Amino acid sequence: MAYDVVIVGGGPAGLAAAVRLKQLSSDISVCLLEKGSEIGAHILSGAVLDPKALNELIPDWKAKGAPVETRVTQDRFWFFTQSSAIALPHVLFPPLMSNRGNYIVSLSNLCKWLGQQAEALGVEIYPGFPAHDLIVEDGVVKGVITGDLGVAKDGHHKDSYTPGMELRGKYTLFAEGARGSLSKELGAKFGLQEGREPQKFGIGLKELWELPAAQHQKGLVLHGMGWPLSNDTGGGLFMYHWGDNFCSIGFVVHLNYKNPWLDPFGEFQRAKTHPAIAKMLSGGKRIGYGARAITEGGTQSVPKLSFPGGALIGCAAGFVNLPRIKGSHNAMKTGMLAAEAAAAAVQAGRAGDTLEDYDRAYVQSWAAKDLYLVRNAKPLWSRLGSLLALPLIGLDMWTNQLFGISLFGTLGHGEPDFATLKPAAGSVKIAYPKPDGHLTFDRASSLFLSGTNHEEDQPVHLKLRDPGIPISVNLPEYAEPAQRYCPAGVYEVIEESTGPRFQINAQNCVHCKTCDIKDPAQNITWVTPEGGGGPNYTNM
Ligand SMILES: Cc1cc2nc3c(=O)[nH]c(=O)nc-3n(C[C@H](O)[C@H](O)[C@H](O)COP(=O)(O)OP(=O)(O)OC[C@H]3O[C@@H](n4cnc5c(N)ncnc54)[C@H](O)[C@@H]3O)c2cc1C
Ligand code: SF4
Repeated sequence: MAYDVVIVGGGPAGLAAAVRLKQLSSDISVCLLEKGSEIGAHILSGAVLDPKALNELIPDWKAKGAPVETRVTQDRFWFFTQSSAIALPHVLFPPLMSNRGNYIVSLSNLCKWLGQQAEALGVEIYPGFPAHDLIVEDGVVKGVITGDLGVAKDGHHKDSYTPGMELRGKYTLFAEGARGSLSKELGAKFGLQEGREPQKFGIGLKELWELPAAQHQKGLVLHGMGWPLSNDTGGGLFMYHWGDNFCSIGFVVHLNYKNPWLDPFGEFQRAKTHPAIAKMLSGGKRIGYGARAITEGGTQSVPKLSFPGGALIGCAAGFVNLPRIKGSHNAMKTGMLAAEAAAAAVQAGRAGDTLEDYDRAYVQSWAAKDLYLVRNAKPLWSRLGSLLALPLIGLDMWTNQLFGISLFGTLGHGEPDFATLKPAAGSVKIAYPKPDGHLTFDRASSLFLSGTNHEEDQPVHLKLRDPGIPISVNLPEYAEPAQRYCPAGVYEVIEESTGPRFQINAQNCVHCKTCDIKDPAQNITWVTPEGGGGPNYTNM
Protein backbone atom coordinates (compact mmCIF):
# COMPACT_ATOMS: atom_id res chain seq x y z
CA MET A 1 0.00 0.00 0.00
CA ALA A 2 1.41 3.40 -0.93
CA TYR A 3 0.88 6.70 0.87
CA ASP A 4 2.40 10.12 0.85
CA VAL A 5 3.29 9.81 4.54
CA VAL A 6 3.39 6.74 6.78
CA ILE A 7 3.47 7.37 10.54
CA VAL A 8 4.66 4.70 12.99
CA GLY A 9 3.09 5.13 16.44
CA GLY A 10 -0.14 6.66 17.69
CA GLY A 11 1.11 8.68 20.65
CA PRO A 12 0.97 12.47 20.92
CA ALA A 13 3.81 12.90 18.40
CA GLY A 14 2.41 10.64 15.68
CA LEU A 15 -1.15 11.86 16.07
CA ALA A 16 -0.15 15.53 16.06
CA ALA A 17 1.84 14.91 12.87
CA ALA A 18 -1.12 13.13 11.27
CA VAL A 19 -3.55 15.93 12.15
CA ARG A 20 -1.15 18.63 10.95
CA LEU A 21 -0.54 16.91 7.61
CA LYS A 22 -4.26 16.75 6.89
CA GLN A 23 -4.81 20.33 8.07
CA LEU A 24 -2.19 21.45 5.56
CA SER A 25 -3.69 19.51 2.68
CA SER A 26 -6.56 17.06 2.56
CA ASP A 27 -4.96 15.65 -0.62
CA ILE A 28 -1.95 14.26 1.25
CA SER A 29 -2.58 10.58 1.99
CA VAL A 30 -1.57 9.61 5.53
CA CYS A 31 -1.56 6.23 7.24
CA LEU A 32 -0.76 5.68 10.92
CA LEU A 33 0.18 2.34 12.48
CA GLU A 34 -0.25 1.61 16.19
CA LYS A 35 0.86 -1.62 17.87
CA GLY A 36 -1.69 -1.36 20.70
CA SER A 37 -5.16 -2.91 20.35
CA GLU A 38 -6.55 0.63 20.07
CA ILE A 39 -5.16 4.15 20.13
CA GLY A 40 -4.19 4.95 23.73
CA ALA A 41 -3.90 1.30 24.84
CA HIS A 42 -0.11 1.58 25.16
CA ILE A 43 0.08 5.19 26.34
CA LEU A 44 1.32 5.64 29.89
CA SER A 45 2.26 9.05 31.19
CA GLY A 46 1.78 11.27 34.30
CA ALA A 47 0.34 13.48 33.09
CA VAL A 48 0.46 17.20 33.57
CA LEU A 49 -0.09 18.69 30.14
CA ASP A 50 1.43 21.98 29.06
CA PRO A 51 -1.24 22.83 26.46
CA LYS A 52 1.04 24.97 24.30
CA ALA A 53 1.26 22.52 21.38
CA LEU A 54 -2.38 21.49 21.64
CA ASN A 55 -3.37 25.18 21.45
CA GLU A 56 -1.38 25.51 18.24
CA LEU A 57 -2.66 22.28 16.72
CA ILE A 58 -6.38 22.46 17.55
CA PRO A 59 -7.07 25.92 19.03
CA ASP A 60 -10.75 25.08 19.67
CA TRP A 61 -9.97 21.83 21.50
CA LYS A 62 -12.27 22.79 24.36
CA ALA A 63 -15.28 23.22 22.06
CA LYS A 64 -14.36 19.96 20.33
CA GLY A 65 -14.57 18.09 23.64
CA ALA A 66 -10.91 17.23 24.32
CA PRO A 67 -10.56 15.26 27.58
CA VAL A 68 -8.50 18.10 29.09
CA GLU A 69 -10.56 19.27 32.02
CA THR A 70 -8.69 19.41 35.33
CA ARG A 71 -6.76 22.64 35.71
CA VAL A 72 -3.78 22.58 38.07
CA THR A 73 -4.81 24.42 41.23
CA GLN A 74 -2.03 23.48 43.70
CA ASP A 75 1.60 22.86 42.85
CA ARG A 76 3.76 21.35 45.60
CA PHE A 77 7.31 20.05 45.77
CA TRP A 78 8.41 17.92 48.73
CA PHE A 79 11.77 16.55 49.79
CA PHE A 80 11.30 13.28 51.65
CA THR A 81 13.32 11.92 54.51
CA GLN A 82 12.16 8.56 55.85
CA SER A 83 9.75 10.13 58.32
CA SER A 84 9.08 13.67 57.14
CA ALA A 85 8.19 15.60 54.00
CA ILE A 86 9.80 19.01 53.73
CA ALA A 87 7.83 21.39 51.49
CA LEU A 88 10.16 23.43 49.28
CA PRO A 89 8.92 27.00 48.74
CA HIS A 90 7.98 28.13 45.22
CA VAL A 91 10.45 31.00 45.22
CA LEU A 92 13.27 28.47 44.89
CA PHE A 93 12.01 27.46 41.45
CA PRO A 94 12.21 29.61 38.32
CA PRO A 95 8.96 30.39 36.45
CA LEU A 96 9.67 27.68 33.86
CA MET A 97 8.90 25.10 36.57
CA SER A 98 5.45 26.51 37.31
CA ASN A 99 2.39 24.45 36.44
CA ARG A 100 0.12 27.46 36.25
CA GLY A 101 -2.15 27.13 33.20
CA ASN A 102 -1.41 23.41 32.85
CA TYR A 103 -3.92 20.56 33.04
CA ILE A 104 -3.90 17.13 34.61
CA VAL A 105 -4.96 14.56 32.02
CA SER A 106 -4.92 10.94 31.07
CA LEU A 107 -2.57 11.05 28.07
CA SER A 108 -4.06 7.77 26.94
CA ASN A 109 -7.53 9.38 26.78
CA LEU A 110 -6.13 12.47 25.06
CA CYS A 111 -4.55 10.25 22.41
CA LYS A 112 -7.87 8.46 21.83
CA TRP A 113 -9.47 11.85 21.20
CA LEU A 114 -6.61 12.99 18.96
CA GLY A 115 -7.06 9.75 17.00
CA GLN A 116 -10.72 10.63 16.43
CA GLN A 117 -9.72 14.10 15.21
CA ALA A 118 -7.17 12.59 12.84
CA GLU A 119 -9.67 10.07 11.46
CA ALA A 120 -12.26 12.79 10.94
CA LEU A 121 -9.68 14.59 8.80
CA GLY A 122 -9.14 11.48 6.69
CA VAL A 123 -6.08 9.82 8.27
CA GLU A 124 -6.16 6.04 7.92
CA ILE A 125 -5.43 4.60 11.36
CA TYR A 126 -4.56 0.93 11.86
CA PRO A 127 -4.46 -0.09 15.52
CA GLY A 128 -3.16 -3.59 16.24
CA PHE A 129 -0.56 -3.27 13.48
CA PRO A 130 3.04 -2.96 14.68
CA ALA A 131 5.67 -1.77 12.24
CA HIS A 132 8.14 -4.64 12.54
CA ASP A 133 10.70 -4.00 9.79
CA LEU A 134 12.07 -1.11 7.79
CA ILE A 135 11.98 -0.97 4.02
CA VAL A 136 15.31 0.56 3.01
CA GLU A 137 16.26 0.69 -0.65
CA ASP A 138 19.41 2.35 -1.99
CA GLY A 139 19.98 3.98 1.38
CA VAL A 140 16.50 5.52 1.47
CA VAL A 141 13.73 4.58 3.92
CA LYS A 142 10.75 3.69 1.76
CA GLY A 143 8.32 2.59 4.46
CA VAL A 144 7.76 -0.27 6.88
CA ILE A 145 6.51 -3.84 6.99
CA THR A 146 3.94 -4.81 9.62
CA GLY A 147 4.47 -7.91 11.75
CA ASP A 148 3.33 -11.33 10.59
CA LEU A 149 0.27 -12.78 12.29
CA GLY A 150 -0.19 -16.44 13.16
CA VAL A 151 3.43 -17.55 13.62
CA ALA A 152 3.85 -20.19 16.35
CA LYS A 153 6.51 -20.12 19.07
CA ASP A 154 8.63 -22.63 17.14
CA GLY A 155 8.35 -20.55 13.96
CA HIS A 156 5.83 -22.68 12.02
CA HIS A 157 2.89 -20.97 10.36
CA LYS A 158 -0.45 -21.60 12.06
CA ASP A 159 -3.78 -21.75 10.16
CA SER A 160 -4.27 -18.08 11.06
CA TYR A 161 -0.98 -17.08 9.39
CA THR A 162 -1.11 -13.74 7.59
CA PRO A 163 2.14 -12.25 6.34
CA GLY A 164 3.03 -8.65 7.21
CA MET A 165 2.03 -5.85 4.86
CA GLU A 166 4.33 -3.42 3.12
CA LEU A 167 3.34 0.18 3.69
CA ARG A 168 5.29 2.51 1.50
CA GLY A 169 5.53 6.24 1.95
CA LYS A 170 7.28 9.13 0.27
CA TYR A 171 8.24 9.93 3.85
CA THR A 172 7.94 7.81 7.00
CA LEU A 173 7.74 9.51 10.39
CA PHE A 174 8.79 7.40 13.37
CA ALA A 175 6.80 8.26 16.50
CA GLU A 176 7.50 5.13 18.55
CA GLY A 177 8.22 6.94 21.81
CA ALA A 178 11.13 6.20 24.15
CA ARG A 179 13.50 3.52 22.78
CA GLY A 180 11.51 2.73 19.67
CA SER A 181 12.59 -0.57 18.13
CA LEU A 182 12.78 0.73 14.54
CA SER A 183 14.06 4.12 15.70
CA LYS A 184 16.97 2.31 17.36
CA GLU A 185 17.74 0.54 14.06
CA LEU A 186 17.54 3.83 12.18
CA GLY A 187 19.90 5.47 14.68
CA ALA A 188 22.51 2.80 13.99
CA LYS A 189 21.95 2.70 10.22
CA PHE A 190 22.21 6.44 9.66
CA GLY A 191 24.56 7.32 12.55
CA LEU A 192 21.93 9.67 13.97
CA GLN A 193 23.56 9.85 17.43
CA GLU A 194 27.05 10.66 16.10
CA GLY A 195 28.57 13.71 17.78
CA ARG A 196 25.78 13.74 20.38
CA GLU A 197 25.67 12.53 23.95
CA PRO A 198 24.08 9.10 24.51
CA GLN A 199 20.34 9.17 25.18
CA LYS A 200 19.52 8.77 28.88
CA PHE A 201 16.41 7.15 30.31
CA GLY A 202 14.36 6.57 33.41
CA ILE A 203 11.77 3.93 34.15
CA GLY A 204 8.43 5.38 35.16
CA LEU A 205 6.00 3.20 37.10
CA LYS A 206 2.47 4.37 37.67
CA GLU A 207 -0.70 3.40 39.49
CA LEU A 208 -4.14 4.89 39.12
CA TRP A 209 -6.16 5.17 42.34
CA GLU A 210 -9.71 6.12 43.15
CA LEU A 211 -9.78 8.13 46.38
CA PRO A 212 -12.57 8.78 48.86
CA ALA A 213 -14.19 12.08 47.81
CA ALA A 214 -13.23 13.77 51.09
CA GLN A 215 -9.57 13.11 50.41
CA HIS A 216 -9.51 14.12 46.79
CA GLN A 217 -7.97 17.51 46.06
CA LYS A 218 -8.85 18.04 42.40
CA GLY A 219 -6.07 19.94 40.64
CA LEU A 220 -3.31 19.00 43.10
CA VAL A 221 0.13 18.42 41.59
CA LEU A 222 2.74 17.00 43.95
CA HIS A 223 6.34 16.15 43.08
CA GLY A 224 8.81 14.68 45.53
CA MET A 225 12.37 13.44 45.71
CA GLY A 226 14.68 11.96 48.32
CA TRP A 227 13.65 8.87 50.33
CA PRO A 228 13.42 5.95 49.57
CA LEU A 229 16.10 6.44 46.89
CA SER A 230 19.70 6.72 48.06
CA ASN A 231 21.47 10.00 47.34
CA ASP A 232 23.33 8.57 44.33
CA THR A 233 20.16 7.35 42.60
CA GLY A 234 18.12 9.89 40.67
CA GLY A 235 14.36 9.85 40.51
CA GLY A 236 11.26 10.76 42.45
CA LEU A 237 7.56 10.57 43.01
CA PHE A 238 4.61 12.28 41.35
CA MET A 239 0.99 12.46 42.45
CA TYR A 240 -1.76 14.17 40.47
CA HIS A 241 -5.42 14.48 41.60
CA TRP A 242 -7.81 14.80 38.66
CA GLY A 243 -11.21 13.94 37.22
CA ASP A 244 -13.75 12.09 39.35
CA ASN A 245 -11.68 11.24 42.42
CA PHE A 246 -8.79 9.88 40.34
CA CYS A 247 -5.25 10.02 41.68
CA SER A 248 -2.36 9.20 39.37
CA ILE A 249 0.65 8.28 41.45
CA GLY A 250 3.96 7.26 39.97
CA PHE A 251 7.65 6.90 40.55
CA VAL A 252 10.59 7.45 38.22
CA VAL A 253 14.00 5.84 38.73
CA HIS A 254 16.82 7.10 36.53
CA LEU A 255 18.27 4.15 34.66
CA ASN A 256 21.85 5.17 35.33
CA TYR A 257 21.45 3.70 38.81
CA LYS A 258 24.49 1.77 39.99
CA ASN A 259 23.31 -0.80 42.50
CA PRO A 260 22.24 -4.00 40.69
CA TRP A 261 20.15 -5.01 43.73
CA LEU A 262 17.88 -2.00 43.21
CA ASP A 263 14.33 -2.86 42.20
CA PRO A 264 12.43 0.14 40.74
CA PHE A 265 9.08 -1.58 41.38
CA GLY A 266 10.08 -2.16 45.01
CA GLU A 267 11.20 1.46 45.39
CA PHE A 268 7.81 2.65 44.12
CA GLN A 269 5.95 0.41 46.56
CA ARG A 270 8.19 1.63 49.40
CA ALA A 271 7.66 5.29 48.44
CA LYS A 272 3.92 4.89 49.01
CA THR A 273 4.55 3.84 52.62
CA HIS A 274 5.91 7.28 53.49
CA PRO A 275 3.53 8.60 56.19
CA ALA A 276 2.65 11.72 54.16
CA ILE A 277 1.78 9.66 51.07
CA ALA A 278 0.14 6.71 52.85
CA LYS A 279 -2.22 9.17 54.55
CA MET A 280 -3.28 10.62 51.20
CA LEU A 281 -3.97 7.16 49.74
CA SER A 282 -5.69 5.62 52.78
CA GLY A 283 -9.19 4.36 52.07
CA GLY A 284 -8.51 4.54 48.33
CA LYS A 285 -8.56 1.74 45.78
CA ARG A 286 -5.91 0.99 43.20
CA ILE A 287 -7.47 0.49 39.76
CA GLY A 288 -4.61 0.73 37.27
CA TYR A 289 -0.92 -0.10 36.86
CA GLY A 290 1.71 0.24 34.18
CA ALA A 291 5.28 1.21 33.37
CA ARG A 292 7.13 2.91 30.55
CA ALA A 293 10.63 4.24 29.90
CA ILE A 294 11.00 8.00 29.75
CA THR A 295 13.76 9.86 27.91
CA GLU A 296 15.98 12.09 30.06
CA GLY A 297 18.95 13.09 27.90
CA GLY A 298 17.50 16.45 26.88
CA THR A 299 19.11 18.75 24.38
CA GLN A 300 22.58 17.16 24.46
CA SER A 301 21.14 13.82 23.39
CA VAL A 302 18.76 14.92 20.63
CA PRO A 303 19.93 12.99 17.56
CA LYS A 304 20.00 14.11 13.95
CA LEU A 305 16.26 14.06 13.33
CA SER A 306 15.93 13.48 9.60
CA PHE A 307 17.44 10.94 7.20
CA PRO A 308 16.67 9.98 3.62
CA GLY A 309 12.96 9.22 3.45
CA GLY A 310 11.97 9.94 7.01
CA ALA A 311 12.42 11.47 10.43
CA LEU A 312 12.18 10.78 14.15
CA ILE A 313 9.52 12.71 16.05
CA GLY A 314 8.58 12.90 19.75
CA CYS A 315 10.28 10.72 22.31
CA ALA A 316 11.65 8.42 19.62
CA ALA A 317 14.19 11.25 19.48
CA GLY A 318 13.79 12.19 23.18
CA PHE A 319 12.27 15.58 23.96
CA VAL A 320 11.38 15.26 27.65
CA ASN A 321 12.15 18.24 29.85
CA LEU A 322 13.39 16.31 32.88
CA PRO A 323 12.93 18.81 35.74
CA ARG A 324 9.43 19.61 34.46
CA ILE A 325 8.77 15.87 33.81
CA LYS A 326 7.02 16.88 30.64
CA GLY A 327 7.49 15.65 27.11
CA SER A 328 4.09 15.44 25.48
CA HIS A 329 4.03 19.13 24.48
CA ASN A 330 7.40 18.74 22.75
CA ALA A 331 6.35 15.40 21.24
CA MET A 332 3.34 17.11 19.65
CA LYS A 333 5.34 20.14 18.55
CA THR A 334 8.06 18.07 16.84
CA GLY A 335 5.35 15.99 15.16
CA MET A 336 3.83 19.18 13.81
CA LEU A 337 7.19 20.53 12.62
CA ALA A 338 8.04 17.29 10.79
CA ALA A 339 4.55 17.25 9.26
CA GLU A 340 5.03 20.79 7.96
CA ALA A 341 8.36 19.84 6.36
CA ALA A 342 6.92 16.62 4.87
CA ALA A 343 3.80 18.38 3.53
CA ALA A 344 5.91 21.05 1.81
CA ALA A 345 8.11 18.34 0.28
CA VAL A 346 5.16 16.27 -0.98
CA GLN A 347 3.51 19.37 -2.42
CA ALA A 348 6.76 20.24 -4.21
CA GLY A 349 6.77 16.77 -5.78
CA ARG A 350 9.71 15.48 -3.76
CA ALA A 351 10.07 12.01 -2.21
CA GLY A 352 12.68 10.14 -0.20
CA ASP A 353 15.06 13.03 0.44
CA THR A 354 16.23 14.25 3.85
CA LEU A 355 13.83 16.66 5.52
CA GLU A 356 16.52 19.11 6.64
CA ASP A 357 13.85 21.80 7.05
CA TYR A 358 12.49 19.83 9.98
CA ASP A 359 15.91 19.80 11.74
CA ARG A 360 16.20 23.54 11.17
CA ALA A 361 12.65 24.27 12.33
CA TYR A 362 13.24 22.27 15.52
CA VAL A 363 16.38 24.24 16.41
CA GLN A 364 14.42 27.49 16.11
CA SER A 365 11.32 26.22 17.93
CA TRP A 366 10.13 26.79 21.47
CA ALA A 367 10.60 23.04 22.03
CA ALA A 368 14.38 23.38 21.56
CA LYS A 369 14.44 26.35 23.95
CA ASP A 370 12.38 24.41 26.49
CA LEU A 371 15.13 21.76 26.62
CA TYR A 372 18.06 24.16 26.38
CA LEU A 373 17.17 26.06 29.57
CA VAL A 374 17.29 22.89 31.67
CA ARG A 375 20.19 21.15 29.93
CA ASN A 376 22.36 20.75 33.01
CA ALA A 377 19.71 19.28 35.32
CA LYS A 378 20.36 15.67 34.40
CA PRO A 379 24.19 15.85 34.27
CA LEU A 380 24.36 17.67 37.63
CA TRP A 381 22.00 15.13 39.21
CA SER A 382 24.03 12.20 37.85
CA ARG A 383 27.38 13.63 38.96
CA LEU A 384 26.60 15.12 42.35
CA GLY A 385 23.72 13.10 43.76
CA SER A 386 20.33 14.45 44.75
CA LEU A 387 21.22 16.58 47.80
CA LEU A 388 24.00 18.62 46.25
CA ALA A 389 22.49 18.73 42.78
CA LEU A 390 19.07 20.06 43.79
CA PRO A 391 20.19 23.60 44.76
CA LEU A 392 22.63 23.79 41.85
CA ILE A 393 19.98 22.71 39.36
CA GLY A 394 17.70 25.41 40.78
CA LEU A 395 20.45 28.03 40.47
CA ASP A 396 21.33 26.92 36.95
CA MET A 397 17.72 27.09 35.76
CA TRP A 398 17.36 30.58 37.32
CA THR A 399 20.46 31.98 35.56
CA ASN A 400 19.39 30.36 32.30
CA GLN A 401 15.90 31.76 32.45
CA LEU A 402 16.84 35.25 33.71
CA PHE A 403 20.11 35.94 31.88
CA GLY A 404 20.36 33.22 29.23
CA ILE A 405 23.60 31.88 30.71
CA SER A 406 24.74 28.88 32.69
CA LEU A 407 27.61 28.76 35.17
CA PHE A 408 28.32 25.27 33.92
CA GLY A 409 28.14 25.78 30.15
CA THR A 410 26.68 22.57 28.75
CA LEU A 411 27.63 19.47 30.70
CA GLY A 412 27.79 16.02 29.10
CA HIS A 413 26.14 12.82 30.30
CA GLY A 414 29.08 10.44 29.91
CA GLU A 415 28.25 6.77 30.05
CA PRO A 416 25.12 5.20 28.58
CA ASP A 417 22.72 3.72 31.15
CA PHE A 418 23.69 0.09 30.50
CA ALA A 419 27.26 0.79 31.58
CA THR A 420 26.64 2.16 35.09
CA LEU A 421 26.01 -0.98 37.17
CA LYS A 422 28.58 -1.94 39.81
CA PRO A 423 29.27 -5.61 40.55
CA ALA A 424 26.67 -7.19 42.84
CA ALA A 425 29.36 -8.50 45.18
CA GLY A 426 30.42 -5.04 46.35
CA SER A 427 26.91 -3.49 46.35
CA VAL A 428 24.51 -3.19 49.26
CA LYS A 429 21.57 -5.61 49.09
CA ILE A 430 18.26 -3.80 49.50
CA ALA A 431 15.53 -5.43 51.58
CA TYR A 432 12.06 -4.52 50.29
CA PRO A 433 9.11 -4.95 52.66
CA LYS A 434 6.44 -7.54 51.81
CA PRO A 435 3.37 -6.08 50.07
CA ASP A 436 0.33 -5.61 52.32
CA GLY A 437 -2.29 -5.80 49.54
CA HIS A 438 -3.79 -2.42 50.50
CA LEU A 439 -1.11 0.19 49.98
CA THR A 440 1.67 -1.95 48.52
CA PHE A 441 1.37 -4.79 46.04
CA ASP A 442 3.28 -7.52 44.23
CA ARG A 443 4.05 -7.63 40.53
CA ALA A 444 1.45 -10.27 39.65
CA SER A 445 -1.56 -8.37 41.04
CA SER A 446 -0.19 -5.17 39.52
CA LEU A 447 0.21 -6.72 36.11
CA PHE A 448 -3.40 -7.89 36.22
CA LEU A 449 -4.48 -4.23 36.41
CA SER A 450 -2.49 -3.33 33.29
CA GLY A 451 -4.77 -5.52 31.15
CA THR A 452 -1.68 -7.06 29.54
CA ASN A 453 -2.36 -9.81 27.10
CA HIS A 454 -0.31 -11.50 24.36
CA GLU A 455 -1.09 -14.44 22.11
CA GLU A 456 0.89 -17.13 23.96
CA ASP A 457 1.91 -19.26 20.99
CA GLN A 458 4.18 -16.79 19.20
CA PRO A 459 7.95 -16.31 18.96
CA VAL A 460 9.44 -14.61 22.03
CA HIS A 461 9.71 -10.90 21.24
CA LEU A 462 12.62 -10.36 23.65
CA LYS A 463 15.56 -11.49 21.58
CA LEU A 464 18.80 -12.57 23.25
CA ARG A 465 21.87 -12.07 21.08
CA ASP A 466 23.62 -14.75 23.16
CA PRO A 467 21.24 -16.93 25.22
CA GLY A 468 24.11 -17.90 27.54
CA ILE A 469 24.93 -14.41 28.82
CA PRO A 470 22.19 -14.04 31.48
CA ILE A 471 23.51 -17.06 33.41
CA SER A 472 27.21 -17.05 32.47
CA VAL A 473 27.88 -13.29 32.80
CA ASN A 474 24.96 -11.30 34.24
CA LEU A 475 24.21 -13.70 37.10
CA PRO A 476 27.69 -13.94 38.63
CA GLU A 477 28.55 -10.29 37.94
CA TYR A 478 25.26 -8.44 38.62
CA ALA A 479 22.95 -11.08 40.17
CA GLU A 480 21.04 -10.86 36.84
CA PRO A 481 19.40 -7.45 37.35
CA ALA A 482 16.64 -8.15 34.78
CA GLN A 483 14.81 -10.00 37.56
CA ARG A 484 14.48 -6.67 39.36
CA TYR A 485 14.40 -3.90 36.78
CA CYS A 486 11.60 -5.49 34.74
CA PRO A 487 8.35 -4.08 36.19
CA ALA A 488 6.32 -7.01 34.92
CA GLY A 489 8.21 -10.06 36.17
CA VAL A 490 9.15 -11.15 32.67
CA TYR A 491 12.64 -12.35 33.60
CA GLU A 492 13.28 -15.05 36.19
CA VAL A 493 16.30 -17.11 37.20
CA ILE A 494 14.98 -20.54 38.14
CA GLU A 495 17.16 -22.81 40.26
CA GLU A 496 17.07 -26.35 38.88
CA SER A 497 19.00 -29.51 39.73
CA THR A 498 21.17 -28.89 36.67
CA GLY A 499 21.86 -25.30 37.73
CA PRO A 500 20.22 -21.93 37.23
CA ARG A 501 18.04 -21.36 34.14
CA PHE A 502 16.98 -18.01 32.65
CA GLN A 503 13.26 -17.86 31.92
CA ILE A 504 11.46 -15.23 29.83
CA ASN A 505 7.71 -14.86 30.51
CA ALA A 506 7.22 -12.77 27.38
CA GLN A 507 3.43 -12.70 27.67
CA ASN A 508 3.75 -10.42 30.74
CA CYS A 509 5.66 -7.68 28.92
CA VAL A 510 4.16 -4.17 29.28
CA HIS A 511 6.40 -2.78 26.49
CA CYS A 512 8.28 -0.38 28.79
CA LYS A 513 11.62 -1.09 26.98
CA THR A 514 13.72 -1.03 30.16
CA CYS A 515 15.45 -4.35 29.39
CA ASP A 516 16.54 -3.10 25.98
CA ILE A 517 18.07 -0.06 27.70
CA LYS A 518 19.54 -1.41 30.95
CA ASP A 519 20.83 -4.90 30.22
CA PRO A 520 24.54 -4.49 31.08
CA ALA A 521 25.64 -6.73 28.19
CA GLN A 522 23.22 -5.08 25.73
CA ASN A 523 22.16 -8.62 24.98
CA ILE A 524 18.39 -8.04 24.94
CA THR A 525 16.63 -6.56 21.94
CA TRP A 526 12.95 -5.74 22.22
CA VAL A 527 11.06 -6.29 18.97
CA THR A 528 7.35 -5.86 18.34
CA PRO A 529 5.23 -8.89 19.25
CA GLU A 530 2.12 -9.92 17.34
CA GLY A 531 -0.22 -6.97 16.77
CA GLY A 532 -2.61 -5.92 19.53
CA GLY A 533 -0.53 -7.64 22.25
CA GLY A 534 0.67 -5.77 25.31
CA PRO A 535 -1.04 -3.64 27.93
CA ASN A 536 -4.55 -2.26 27.61
CA TYR A 537 -4.36 0.93 29.63
CA THR A 538 -7.49 2.81 30.64
CA ASN A 539 -7.34 6.36 32.02
CA MET A 540 -3.51 6.11 32.21
C1 LIG B 1 5.79 7.80 34.07
C2 LIG B 1 5.82 8.93 33.08
C3 LIG B 1 5.30 10.16 33.46
C4 LIG B 1 5.29 11.21 32.55
N1 LIG B 1 4.71 12.39 32.92
C5 LIG B 1 4.55 13.37 32.00
C6 LIG B 1 3.79 14.53 32.31
O1 LIG B 1 3.27 14.68 33.43
N2 LIG B 1 3.66 15.47 31.34
C7 LIG B 1 4.20 15.32 30.10
O2 LIG B 1 4.05 16.21 29.26
N3 LIG B 1 4.94 14.23 29.79
C8 LIG B 1 5.11 13.25 30.70
N4 LIG B 1 5.80 12.10 30.36
C9 LIG B 1 6.44 12.02 29.04
C10 LIG B 1 5.42 11.78 27.94
O3 LIG B 1 4.60 10.69 28.28
C11 LIG B 1 6.14 11.53 26.64
O4 LIG B 1 6.98 12.61 26.37
C12 LIG B 1 5.17 11.33 25.48
O5 LIG B 1 4.28 10.28 25.74
C13 LIG B 1 5.94 11.07 24.19
O6 LIG B 1 5.02 10.94 23.14
P1 LIG B 1 5.38 10.08 21.84
O7 LIG B 1 4.20 10.19 20.96
O8 LIG B 1 6.69 10.50 21.35
O9 LIG B 1 5.57 8.58 22.36
P2 LIG B 1 4.59 7.62 23.15
O10 LIG B 1 3.65 8.38 23.99
O11 LIG B 1 5.46 6.62 23.83
O12 LIG B 1 3.75 6.89 22.02
C14 LIG B 1 4.34 6.00 21.13
C15 LIG B 1 3.25 5.16 20.49
O13 LIG B 1 3.80 4.43 19.41
C16 LIG B 1 3.43 3.08 19.48
N5 LIG B 1 4.50 2.29 18.85
C17 LIG B 1 5.78 2.18 19.28
N6 LIG B 1 6.49 1.42 18.42
C18 LIG B 1 5.64 1.04 17.45
C19 LIG B 1 5.80 0.25 16.26
N7 LIG B 1 6.98 -0.26 15.91
N8 LIG B 1 4.70 0.05 15.49
C20 LIG B 1 3.50 0.60 15.82
N9 LIG B 1 3.31 1.35 16.93
C21 LIG B 1 4.37 1.58 17.71
C22 LIG B 1 3.25 2.83 20.96
O14 LIG B 1 2.43 1.71 21.19
C23 LIG B 1 2.64 4.14 21.44
O15 LIG B 1 1.24 4.13 21.32
C24 LIG B 1 5.84 11.04 31.25
C25 LIG B 1 6.36 9.80 30.88
C26 LIG B 1 6.33 8.74 31.78
C27 LIG B 1 6.87 7.40 31.36
S1 SF4 C 1 10.39 -7.42 29.27
FE1 SF4 C 1 11.48 -5.50 29.00
S2 SF4 C 1 10.04 -4.20 27.90
FE2 SF4 C 1 8.86 -5.90 28.73
S3 SF4 C 1 8.10 -5.16 30.68
FE3 SF4 C 1 10.02 -6.21 31.13
S4 SF4 C 1 11.60 -4.65 31.05
FE4 SF4 C 1 9.74 -3.79 30.09
